[in-house]
Amino acid sequence: MNRNTVIRGMMAVVLTLPLAACAAQNSAIPSASSSASSSASANVTATKPAHWSYSGDTGPAKWTTLDPQYAACANGTEQSPIDIELSQLKVDKELGKFETNYKPTAFTLMNNGHTIQANDASGSNTITLDGKVYTLVQLHFHKPSENQINDKTFDMEMHLVHKNSEGKLAVLGVLIKSGSENKQLAEMFSKLPKEETKEDLKLDQVIDLNALLPQDKKAFRYKGSLTTPPCSEGVDWTVLEEPIELSEKQIQAFGAIFSDNHRPVQPLNGRTVVTQ
Ligand SMILES: [Zn+2]
Repeated sequence: MNRNTVIRGMMAVVLTLPLAACAAQNSAIPSASSSASSSASANVTATKPAHWSYSGDTGPAKWTTLDPQYAACANGTEQSPIDIELSQLKVDKELGKFETNYKPTAFTLMNNGHTIQANDASGSNTITLDGKVYTLVQLHFHKPSENQINDKTFDMEMHLVHKNSEGKLAVLGVLIKSGSENKQLAEMFSKLPKEETKEDLKLDQVIDLNALLPQDKKAFRYKGSLTTPPCSEGVDWTVLEEPIELSEKQIQAFGAIFSDNHRPVQPLNGRTVVTQ
């Protein structure tokens, strides 16, 4: 087995895991390993992933030292998040394209110990990138934003995590600035679970992602990674230029639970960011 096969085997396993959650990763690993055939995959799943956080001895600068499974956090060459420099964009009408097909959806809410995450079991929300359809699995939040534009950090960022039939991930990043109360997220942000949850909380009202997203869909696309351990690469990133708004009160409600859950920007290493 050559090195590439090993790496692909590892990627296949890690990309099937939900983002962000130590607990969720632990519970997902037995099912991931049962379908894995390579010895590399078996090794990967032999031990529980190490606990990680956003500060101190288990913070982003230390992630790679916590667990061999987190090697990509330091050795990867296409890591997320990044600073998007508007003067360095490559304009490409085809590659820059991105389409959403979202319907009002009943989400369930969880606190996974790293963020607040809203899960979508409907399978009815999709985005299309390069002719490939990715289905929304969950959305979650970071404070402050992870991706930057021209070195500017925003108050928060929402990540909509999609997966295609091959298990490949595509994340839509939506920057958030302080402003008006966000009506689509009003119920969610009034019910943010303060402690790590064992069971998802049902939300009474549906969320219309079309109404939540900005009207202007100008997007920046780049090849990146998970922004949480194991920092797996092969994630197709789309970041919208136009931010959405949450009220200061809504931002503070999140900040009372997660005061800082962002990974710092990572080197581009020659990557180009494409826009339409
Ligand atoms: Zn995220």
